[in-house]
Amino acid sequence: MTADQKIVVADFLDNAESFLLHRYRAHTKYTYEDDCVTSTLQDNTALFVPSFMNKTVENELPAETKKTKSQILKEIAEKIISCNACDLAHTRIMTVPGEGVPHPLALIIGEGPGAAEDQSGRPFVGEAGQLLDRMLEPIGLSRTKNCFIANIVKCRPPGNRDPLPQEITACDAFLQKQIDVLKPKVIVALGNVPSKTLLNTEKGITKIRGCWTLYNGIPFLPTYHPSYLLRDPSQKAAAWEDMKMLCRRLAELDSVYAAETESLRRDRKI
Ligand code: SF4
Repeated sequence: MTADQKIVVADFLDNAESFLLHRYRAHTKYTYEDDCVTSTLQDNTALFVPSFMNKTVENELPAETKKTKSQILKEIAEKIISCNACDLAHTRIMTVPGEGVPHPLALIIGEGPGAAEDQSGRPFVGEAGQLLDRMLEPIGLSRTKNCFIANIVKCRPPGNRDPLPQEITACDAFLQKQIDVLKPKVIVALGNVPSKTLLNTEKGITKIRGCWTLYNGIPFLPTYHPSYLLRDPSQKAAAWEDMKMLCRRLAELDSVYAAETESLRRDRKI
């Protein structure tokens, strides 16, 4: 082995030790190209990581740079809890940020909390909420397994009136952030307020229910609000048709859901 070859080997061993211990090698200058990727540190030191190590290094990022969806959702909820951005803050008992799984198949959006939700801080827990759970269960959906349930406004409008435009506007950032984090396969809007708000339309729910459209690229299905179904049970058949549409679309979009619901779709002729 020549001296030059020894220098090359020694240099290689130094670099290998540095790489194995610290997963990087800091150089002021690189004069070669290989299968490396480059990123820049704050002090402008080049960070070279072979591409096959990318995943490992990413997995070892400090915890504060790698928040889970649950952590981000919790942070959103904490911001909602302390929010005073509109007048509903003065009359609410509790805020209702929403609840469900962090990787939902369906994000279900109502208009705002009612009395039971205002008392409990949880969405759709009153009579209408129980009906919602009974609508979802036959198609293999639930808030504990594969759904997230939220509202357009996170505080109860007094007397269960519709939220005012300025209240919807004030609260919109929270819902947008939730959608952004949750990345649901589909969105289901319950009733007039969420459907008209998110689709920016004046068309009423009776005209647009059961019609798939897109909201920011996400399949979006308006259907009746369960409160309306409690007042007019004759519309439950139409709502069940919407649930079947939802089930079929999710089976197209998600193979695990398709496999899980295969027998119920067959039995219920969905
Ligand atoms: Fe804040 Fe939304 Fe509650 Fe208004 S409704 S106070 S914007 S959380």
